[in-house]
Amino acid sequence: MSEVKTPPVRAQHIPDKAAFHIGGVGQVPGSFRIGEPDDDGERYFWYCCPCGCGSIAPLTVGEGFKPADGPSWTWNGSFDAPELTPSVHHRGHWHGWLRNGEWVSC
Ligand SMILES: [Zn+2]
Repeated sequence: MSEVKTPPVRAQHIPDKAAFHIGGVGQVPGSFRIGEPDDDGERYFWYCCPCGCGSIAPLTVGEGFKPADGPSWTWNGSFDAPELTPSVHHRGHWHGWLRNGEWVSC
């Protein structure tokens, strides 16, 4: 599969695990759920690849900070209009930015 460019994909927050994925297959492209913070305030940000393939992957994020253990991302703390910095590269599938609640291709 080669990387694709997509129109902006809305990042829908799906807190319910069973609604987010079934058998490891994400149900809604671009959707996400976020785990509870650990002692350092780091969380897992699980997202469903925006390309539409259904694969899911975790990112290590901090709310308002970039965790020291890389690779990691800064999350703006929003569930309605989430943003991540830096860009997200789902290798072989999609590369872009999560900005104002939308996944935008590079
Ligand atoms: Zn994909």
